[in-house]
Amino acid sequence: MKSRKILIVGPCAAESAMQMQTLARSLADVLQSESAASFQPVFRAGLWKPRSQPSSFQGVGAEGLSWLAEAAALIGCPAATEVAQPEHLSAAYDAGIRHFWIGARTTSNPFMVEALAAAPVADKQDVTWYVKNPTSPDISLWCGAIERLKDNGYQHICAIHRGFALGEHTTSKYRNTPIWSVAIEFRRRYPDVPLLTDASHIAGHSERVAEVAEQAIRMGMDGLMIEVHPAPSEALSDAEQQLTPESLNLLLQRIALVTADAQTGESAELATLRQQMDETDDELWALLNKRMDISRQIGEYKRRHGMTILQQARYDELLNRRMQWAAEHGIAPEAAKQIMDIIHEQSVLKQI
Ligand code: PEP
Ligand code: MN
Repeated sequence: MKSRKILIVGPCAAESAMQMQTLARSLADVLQSESAASFQPVFRAGLWKPRSQPSSFQGVGAEGLSWLAEAAALIGCPAATEVAQPEHLSAAYDAGIRHFWIGARTTSNPFMVEALAAAPVADKQDVTWYVKNPTSPDISLWCGAIERLKDNGYQHICAIHRGFALGEHTTSKYRNTPIWSVAIEFRRRYPDVPLLTDASHIAGHSERVAEVAEQAIRMGMDGLMIEVHPAPSEALSDAEQQLTPESLNLLLQRIALVTADAQTGESAELATLRQQMDETDDELWALLNKRMDISRQIGEYKRRHGMTILQQARYDELLNRRMQWAAEHGIAPEAAKQIMDIIHEQSVLKQI
């Protein structure tokens, strides 16, 4: 049997003993149902919340440790919380918590990651770390955090793709834009580190969480993090994106269908398609090579006639045409622009 995927579920933040108990009772039912069978659950709750605004709810801190431990025990799974400082880690470890995640803002700061990785812990083999990607798409910060934990003797390490803050100028429909190419590159570098997707912090809205989760599972990610609250509209943080236990159940049913489909997939058919893809890539690269050659000839022409290399009006026209073509063919114009920008940059360099 294939190993089960990891499912980290629970509220954005622990708010009260009552909230945690109520949620744990509902989750116990959902997680025992058939649709959750392909997952190994972990119960999460944030105690120390890294909020952008000082006026936002900052978490209940150490007071919530016993609520978290008791709720996880009620469900019958490990408890996880976010730690950003060695004091968080030691308080949580002393309360029996053994699963910790490093939040996106913390991964962005090597001093904080080093302080956590080097903090004394009695039994490192008993601890599992989940490292979220940093807020910006800087893969080396993400990898650096993994390396610091490894260097300090930890062996059970997972990573979580939670999307990237690309600023308000982007027109993304997500709260944190997923950049799957970064996740895929992370996987290439660390094939043995399970890579999960935090569908809640990517989606930012409860209505889009299932869609992101399904996409992640279809891509073959190793698990999910999903925020669940007994009464999301009353949540003290991330109210918009938290699911009710009932919607989590629906999400798991949707994922179970995807997994069932995947298991009946025709491998000969897939092999043929992959072969076709490889052949198409060969043609694509041969064409790119041909284009570069033409670029070099244009460069020589411009040199002979004393023309500057960068002809902005010509590039604008070329780019607009390509973006329009992309839109007509169901390709995102922004993606077409990114590809054209890289090709154009390489052309200009070639001409120099
Ligand atoms: C969280 O998981 O509650 C959280 C704060 O996430 P992130 O670090 O991804 O923003
Ligand atoms: Mn949250």
